[in-house]
Amino acid sequence: MNRETIKGFVIGKEFRLLLSAADRCRKQHCGDEVHLRGIIEYTNNCVCRCAYCGISLHNKKVRRYRLAHDEVIGAALRGAAEGVRTIVLQGGEDPQTGAGAICRMIEGIKRADNVAVTVSAGEWSRRDYRMMRDAGADRYLLKIETANPVLFNALRPGSSFENRVRCLHDLQDLGFQVGSGSLVGLPDQTIDDVINDLLFCSRMELAMATFSPFIPHINTPLKNARKPDPDIALRVLAAARLVLPRAHIPVSTALAALVPNGYEKGLQAGANVVMADLTPADAAALYDLYPGKAETSAHNERDSAAQLKRLIGRISRPLAEGRGDALRAESIGGDHDGRYRTSYGTFC
Ligand code: SAH
Repeated sequence: MNRETIKGFVIGKEFRLLLSAADRCRKQHCGDEVHLRGIIEYTNNCVCRCAYCGISLHNKKVRRYRLAHDEVIGAALRGAAEGVRTIVLQGGEDPQTGAGAICRMIEGIKRADNVAVTVSAGEWSRRDYRMMRDAGADRYLLKIETANPVLFNALRPGSSFENRVRCLHDLQDLGFQVGSGSLVGLPDQTIDDVINDLLFCSRMELAMATFSPFIPHINTPLKNARKPDPDIALRVLAAARLVLPRAHIPVSTALAALVPNGYEKGLQAGANVVMADLTPADAAALYDLYPGKAETSAHNERDSAAQLKRLIGRISRPLAEGRGDALRAESIGGDHDGRYRTSYGTFC
């Protein structure tokens, strides 16, 4: 798909037409099922200085925590008992939670029946990723955050765009189902940048993609940035569906925090995944990525599995029973190389 077509989705097409085209595309390529994933935020310790992130080193005010191994396994098993078939292990980049500790969590969770594990733990060496894969991890989520290398390097001092891309390629080579995506509404990010993010994800033939609005956090260098327009956040989600017809696309928790009835709206604008927060409540309150996240999940249980199941029922969509693995695109030219292809000639 070319840049002009995507630009037409993001800024040209009438809002409601765009959202309903994305909804039809989701139905045609992914069906009506909604996948409920469960996230466990195992630590908010992080050595990174990402300018946008509320658990980065910039935030001197948040109390830091690290869940014990047994707390992680307990939370995962409670989720599995509630019907969650994918556990997402997410955390800051914490030297005290090394690849070995993450592997032990993966192994502990994989003892449950028919549960997939997604790791979302940032940048590691190929060797560490291989250990995680060997420990049983099925998927890995690593957002590119922005595919503009200049912006990326400015926002993530100490990291590099090149290394992020290296990680994504390593993960694909190692047979993970890979997810990526970006933040929408970063300072100095243009519409062309967002279109490049969508093109980047399309070229990577991702199994999963997340495009979430950037919400400024008071204890970070970007505290004075503006919140993105909720309609733009929804437009980019819808455009992502049209660009990546077979990818699993969640309603990000950030979208749910920014847009009133965000889960319902997102699920009707191309998304087919929601994420329940399985983190024990006292820790979840400290996983302070952006305002509106920690407090809501801990206090009003907006993001609990039970609440999300009710919400899925209210919009008359079935809850998926399976693990929700990557959907393979129809094989192109009959020769399938085992990657998850999402390139379509024509659709919608
Ligand atoms: N350290 C890991 C995962 C933890 S951060 C990593 O770097 O991949 C998880 C995600 O939270 C990030 O990918 C980022 O896109 C999102 N995030 C961080 N700060 C945010 C903010 N202020 N607004 C919206 N999303 C944010």
